[in-house]
Amino acid sequence: MPGPTPDRPVFRFAPSPNGLLHLGHAYSALLNLDLARATNGTLLVRLEDIDTSRCRPDLADRMLEDLAWLGLDVRQPRRQSEHFADYQAALDRLAAKGLLYPSRATRKQIATAIAPLGPDWPRDPDGAPLYPRHLVQEDPDEPAALRLDMQKAAAGISLTWQETGVGPVGETGTVAISPTIWGDAILRRKEFPASYAIAVVVDDALQGVTHVVRGQDLFYATALQRLLQHHLGLSPPEYHHHGLIRGDAGEKLSKSLVSKSIAAWRAEGQTVNDLRRLLGLASATQYTSSEKRT
Ligand code: GLU
Repeated sequence: MPGPTPDRPVFRFAPSPNGLLHLGHAYSALLNLDLARATNGTLLVRLEDIDTSRCRPDLADRMLEDLAWLGLDVRQPRRQSEHFADYQAALDRLAAKGLLYPSRATRKQIATAIAPLGPDWPRDPDGAPLYPRHLVQEDPDEPAALRLDMQKAAAGISLTWQETGVGPVGETGTVAISPTIWGDAILRRKEFPASYAIAVVVDDALQGVTHVVRGQDLFYATALQRLLQHHLGLSPPEYHHHGLIRGDAGEKLSKSLVSKSIAAWRAEGQTVNDLRRLLGLASATQYTSSEKRT
């Protein structure tokens, strides 16, 4: 794995191999590639496969094939499922600071606990109800997840990140975090020894990532990631959240085109430049020729 290279930008594209690569992924991967090329930086590929029940090695292979076709260097991807010890070490650090607690509640027990409080119980940006720590009846026979004690972790903290893209309601520039929107987030799942939030923060730091370029759907996740970076003593990368290729009615791209796999586009004989044109990205040839001119 390439180590940190502080003098040159390091980008990463980090898909979860739980399905095939489609046009939305391709947009993000190509945007990362273009920004890395334009800044003389590196683009790393990371397979976020901690959810071993949904991510499969054959899907990972097919993703890597498609990414290679798009022009990414896929020779040494970091596979999160091979690095659980790194995430455990980070969890141990947070636990030593008293910021984690075990939680055995099932989804059903959480729903039962908040039911009497009415429909206004707050939900996180992914739509899950905030964890009602002091209301929930736990089943002692359930395995334990580890949750962040948000009240403790966010107390007296004021942090920001640098955003060169844009959030869902126009947030850009210096963005102040409000991590409490996530409540007591799960950092180690019952079924798997890590969660996305802890793994992404550890990996971005270990891989020396300086620029995180990803879809706007992860904009609010940055607040929690920034808080974890703070408690783990890690410096934050710069963030660029881009609009999503959704294929909503009225756009040039229909939903069926957006969900069509890159493998299917390839099988039809489309070229990467055809996809670039469809996505509104400059073609690779233009890149090569402008690189030659300079
Ligand atoms: N693995 C995440 C996904 O496929 C992306 C994570 C990230 O870019 O931070 O949605």
